[in-house]
Amino acid sequence: MAKYSMSAILLDGTAIAAEIRREVAHDVSTLVLGGIRPGLAVVLVGNNPASEVYVRGKVKASEEVGIYSEKHTPSANVSTDELLELVNGLNVRNDIDGILVQLPLPPQVDSQRVLLAVDPAKDVDGFHPMNVGYLSTQRPALVPCTPSGVMEILRRSDIPVAGREAVVVGRSDIVGKPAAMLLLNANATVTVCHSKTRDLAAVCRRADILVAAIGRAGMITKDFVKPGATVIDVGMNKVSEGAEFARLFAGNLKREETFRSKGSVLAGDVHPQVFEVAGAMTPVPGGVGPLTIAMLMSNTVRAARLRRGMSC
Ligand code: NAP
Repeated sequence: MAKYSMSAILLDGTAIAAEIRREVAHDVSTLVLGGIRPGLAVVLVGNNPASEVYVRGKVKASEEVGIYSEKHTPSANVSTDELLELVNGLNVRNDIDGILVQLPLPPQVDSQRVLLAVDPAKDVDGFHPMNVGYLSTQRPALVPCTPSGVMEILRRSDIPVAGREAVVVGRSDIVGKPAAMLLLNANATVTVCHSKTRDLAAVCRRADILVAAIGRAGMITKDFVKPGATVIDVGMNKVSEGAEFARLFAGNLKREETFRSKGSVLAGDVHPQVFEVAGAMTPVPGGVGPLTIAMLMSNTVRAARLRRGMSC
């Protein structure tokens, strides 16, 4: 952890992710010595540029930690049945421990049917209803990567969770809900907020731990935050409009330079001024983001072990 120039402690997700990747690489080499090489299959449909970037990152990270990976790239006009056949083929292969179907899928595909077809034991995204149920009943399972990353940041930064007030803003299946469930399982008192929550700022001010997973740049301002609270910013928003940039980053020379040269910057859901009141906070970029791929690697090794009845 590094001290931020204003007041909050900066929770360095890049460093924490690197530490997790080193641990995963060590676990992989131990498994390989025992004749097991964890394997990850990624299914990338069509040519969505953002999905291509994410998948490239996942394949590269796999190589770096020693996980076998393979990429399947059906064309954008693939049918639901063809994808089901692909997934079923991966389900029965013993050299594949993790199956990741990159979302979004094209409109003609029944995404829910495809995600349901993934063997829960290989569901390294943790999206299958079986894994959602395991999480809520505290059984060993595969947990969605981004919320797991949030918990790793808290744990590895020695931020206590048990008995504390946690507020999660956002209730999506991939971030908000599993983050709330993990915090509850770790004995926090949890409140989940959403677009219909009344007086959101007042609810957020109760939080010792505030998790923002909204998808709105800089929505969480100083008046939402109890002084000294831990603020975890999951948001990743592209800001390309001048007035919005100025509201968030005016006077930040480094950001101004990026905005001028690239025409946009990445912003979290938390306004940068929150650094002045929070006790600890994740930056964007370099906070929760790097944890997501690190936890995917960790989940793949976990799946390899769980499938073989080994302890995790
Ligand atoms: P999502 O599915 O769009 O969910 C957004 C949630 O925020 C919804 O529950 C919504 O409430 C709530 N919300 C929207 N406007 C609100 C408002 N004005 N007040 C209170 N709540 C509001 O988004 P998501 O997939 O969870 O992602 C959230 C953010 O995290 C995005 O910026 C995304 O890019 C980022 N993300 C980052 C990573 C990473 O690796 N760092 C991974 C995944 C997502 P309703 O349910 O009432 O609509």
